[in-house]
Amino acid sequence: MDPGEVARIFDQTGALLEGHFLLTSGLHSEKYLQCARVLQWAEKAQAFAQALAQNFLSNKPDLVISPAIGGIILGHEMGRALACRALFAERENGVLRLRRGFEIYPGEKALVVEDVITTGGSTMETIEVVKSYGGVVVGAASLVDRSGGQASLGVRYHSLWTLSIPTYRQENCPMCKSGSKPVKPGSRV
Ligand SMILES: [Zn+2]
Repeated sequence: MDPGEVARIFDQTGALLEGHFLLTSGLHSEKYLQCARVLQWAEKAQAFAQALAQNFLSNKPDLVISPAIGGIILGHEMGRALACRALFAERENGVLRLRRGFEIYPGEKALVVEDVITTGGSTMETIEVVKSYGGVVVGAASLVDRSGGQASLGVRYHSLWTLSIPTYRQENCPMCKSGSKPVKPGSRV
C-alpha cells in the first residue's frame, strides 16, 4: 500500500480535519488526523495493518502493544496480521501502564503500534512500559507519521504515510496570535 493510497483513503473518509487544534503533545496545529474516522471501516483497518505487518514478520513478535485509545484498533488488527497477542496500555494519573490483567513476560518481543506519531512521546512511553516488564522492543509502527520523519524513537520504525504538518508551541502559534482558541479534538470532533 503506497502513501498516495493511504492519503486518498483519509480524504475519502473525511479524516483530515482543518481548524485550530490542541494535540495530545501539547502542541497546536491547523490540521488534525482523526484516524477513528478511517479505522471505523474495519476492512481498511485490516488492510493497513496487513501492509504494516509485512515489515515485522521476520521479527516474530510475541505481542503488539498500543497506547489507548488511539492505538487500540490498529494494534488489534496488527495482532491478527502477526498472529500474536494485542495489548494496550492506559493512562492512570497521567502515567501509561498495563491494566486489565495484561502481562508482558521477561524476554518477550514486543512491537509498539500507534495510529499517529506526532512527537513520538506516547510511543516512547509505551516502549518504557515494555522495558519495565523485561520485554524486548523489536520496533514501532504507526499508520501515519505526521512528524515528517523527524520523530526519533531509538528503535526500527515504519509508517504507511509520512507527512509534515506544522505544529506550534502556544507562544508561537499564529492562530492563537490572531485570537482564536484551540480545541482538543480527541473525542468531540
Ligand atoms: Zn494555537
